[in-house]
Amino acid sequence: MAIDFTLSADQKNVQQTARDFAENVLAPVVREADREPDPLKAFQLTKPAYIEAYRRGIAFGMLPKEYGGGGLTNVELILAAEEICAVDPGFACTLLVNGLALLPVWYWGNEEQKRRVMGAATSDASGEWIAGYAASEPPGTPGGTANFDSPAPHPVGIGVTARRDGDSYVLNGRKYWPCNVGGWDGNGANVNLVVVRTDPSKGGTEGLSAVLVERGTPGVTYNIIDSFGHRLTPNSEIIFEDARIPAENLVEGTYGNGDLLINRNFAWSGPVAGIAAVGVARAAYEAALSWCKTYTAGAAHPMIHFQNVGYVLGDVAARIEASRYFCWKAAHYIDQHGYHGELIGAMNKVFCTELLLDSVYKCMQVVGVNSADRTHMFEKYLREAAIFPIYDGGNFGMQRRRVHGVLASPNFNPRALMDNEFVHFVKDMEVVDTVQLIERGHLAPA
Ligand SMILES: Cc1cc2nc3c(=O)[nH]c(=O)nc-3n(C[C@H](O)[C@H](O)[C@H](O)COP(=O)(O)OP(=O)(O)OC[C@H]3O[C@@H](n4cnc5c(N)ncnc54)[C@H](O)[C@@H]3O)c2cc1C
Repeated sequence: MAIDFTLSADQKNVQQTARDFAENVLAPVVREADREPDPLKAFQLTKPAYIEAYRRGIAFGMLPKEYGGGGLTNVELILAAEEICAVDPGFACTLLVNGLALLPVWYWGNEEQKRRVMGAATSDASGEWIAGYAASEPPGTPGGTANFDSPAPHPVGIGVTARRDGDSYVLNGRKYWPCNVGGWDGNGANVNLVVVRTDPSKGGTEGLSAVLVERGTPGVTYNIIDSFGHRLTPNSEIIFEDARIPAENLVEGTYGNGDLLINRNFAWSGPVAGIAAVGVARAAYEAALSWCKTYTAGAAHPMIHFQNVGYVLGDVAARIEASRYFCWKAAHYIDQHGYHGELIGAMNKVFCTELLLDSVYKCMQVVGVNSADRTHMFEKYLREAAIFPIYDGGNFGMQRRRVHGVLASPNFNPRALMDNEFVHFVKDMEVVDTVQLIERGHLAPA
């Protein structure tokens, strides 16, 4: 019997550990932290919970055991993520980004880099160790991140440059949006993985690489961003002004392939974002169901006995179930294919995050006007759910473009996912839907 949705004892244990942490350690700080107007202070209010997550092996559970991590499979990771996201997806995002920063070091770093960085992450006595991953850039013209693989010359696409100067790289430019990067005090995470243009004479997918920027590097400053949702994770601007890092901090195997790193990272985080949407929708659905079983709204019976309420909540429950198992499938695929899943990760993230944003609002509709009262959590669920389609690679630009690029490739097998076949993601699948495709002659203008 190959298909069996019953969790193993180990998987149940991971789920239970995360649920216990989320309900007993995280939940008590969420309300106050979410309402804190200063975003850095809001993040700092979560520090004791983060330290506890670190101690329980949750903060770096996604890293391989060989380098001190928890060795969780991707299926186990999302079982844990659903529990944490049902309580607060911003806090969960902070943990996710530890993975986005350090898994590429595992994939592409040399042995010294793996031992140095992952070793430090997993052996910190204080339990505060935190990492950031910076790909996104500020809005404007050229600006933005959706066209990071546009073939136009620098400064289009990734604009932060890293010029080789002797034994160093010198970084200049700005990143915008990455979370964790400013660390607990706004002066830097322990380490940030930054996607940069190591060859400014090249454009698009050429000349991109990833470097490790350590806390305390001169010439790096941070400005925290005040966002409407996911307030418990700290989004930041990073400014690099002649910031000098040792040349050995270039993650060796990423040289010239920073674009593939971005796509692989967003593949890995696809089911994590998908399950985050499941977690938030689950919380909204359970709260709405409980409300509707408790209150009559002036009628002769509790609201759940109205047909519209029962139909809508039934539909919401079905969407949550379907999305959850799609996430399990996507995570399982990534486990089986060497942490690749560029196609299924994007499809999974887009599908779940858009379907379930609407479901959160449907829960609010059946509850009615009282869902707008901030005494209840519905407005927070809506704010959190509205972030999912636009973060972690926006669904419109970055995620759907990746799906399109794979589908449009000449040898794509439309049954690949059904047959659990490896879909090899290559540079030729990038660039799709950037205006310059016409100029490159790949597509004849009308
Ligand atoms: C809570 C949170 C956490 C985040 N964490 C991180 C992080 O840790 N690291 C990090 O690097 N970033 C992070 N981000 C940023 C996030 O990954 C964004 O998704 C990313 O910056 C891309 O934004 P965008 O897709 O809106 O791109 P933009 O370039 O701003 O695009 C804007 C819009 O333009 C349109 N568009 C532009 N070009 C195209 C095109 N070719 N095809 C189709 N549509 C197009 C789309 O409608 C797109 O949505 C975070 C953001 C949030 C809110």
